[in-house]
Amino acid sequence: MPEGDTIFRTARALGRALAGRPITGFRSTYPLLTRFHHHAPLTGQTVDRVESRGKWLLIHFSGGATLVTHMLMSGSWHIYRPGQPWQQPRANMRILIETRDYLAVGFRVPVAEMHTAQSLARHPRIPQPHNDVLSQSFDEPEAARRLLAQTDQAIADALLDQRVLAGVGNVFKSEICFATGLNPFLSVSALTPEQAQTLIAAARKLVAANVLEDSGDAIVTYGGRKRRTTHESDPGASLWVYGRAGQPCRRCAEPVRRRIQGKDARVTFWCPRCQPMPNGSDVDG
Ligand SMILES: [Zn+2]
Repeated sequence: MPEGDTIFRTARALGRALAGRPITGFRSTYPLLTRFHHHAPLTGQTVDRVESRGKWLLIHFSGGATLVTHMLMSGSWHIYRPGQPWQQPRANMRILIETRDYLAVGFRVPVAEMHTAQSLARHPRIPQPHNDVLSQSFDEPEAARRLLAQTDQAIADALLDQRVLAGVGNVFKSEICFATGLNPFLSVSALTPEQAQTLIAAARKLVAANVLEDSGDAIVTYGGRKRRTTHESDPGASLWVYGRAGQPCRRCAEPVRRRIQGKDARVTFWCPRCQPMPNGSDVDG
């Protein structure tokens, strides 16, 4: 599943290709979208802007409607020049937005809904902008308060909770815990307000560093802003702990550990020496 930084980059690329140019064509294999287009044609409107909220991608049209998509595991948006061959079969096309200069094709996008500003604001699962770590209006103190309220969760699970904050995926989860020296299995109830603020600040910093113009497509936490070489074969090469089970910690050389965590059984990586449990007890691997 793409992380928030991936969706952010997709939204940025789509916005650059589509925004401000008249839409010359719209097609979809989803009856609800075609019916909407039939009643209130998107052709002739422009795309005002394209926005990411956590793992949701929002295309705002000048007529006031917003197309909301979620990629889940299978979906992707591609941008093509007219006449350029597509990288996926036509049968995978779910949504097509055309302008004179570009085509935006949503391939196998499993979730696609048309919204008004009102229905968007009421949507129970699409994060509001102030919850998104990559949003300009992200509110750190408020996010720290929401985090501290999750007293029945471990901190790694709470970081993935879209009600707490949006944009942190499973890779960043482990990296944020390492960066703050906190054990991912520690209960939120054991956090001080300062630790909660540090976690939220680290989340924002790490995810934001990965949407810089030159940050490429891979997640980089280890090595800071340094541009990584392309075609790394090891997925953990640019990370502190994620994907590095059994390999020496980059700070203390203790072997990095891996464990399945939470009700959604997501994999977690951590260093037992750099991220000890406060009472000295170890986490059974
Ligand atoms: Zn370590």
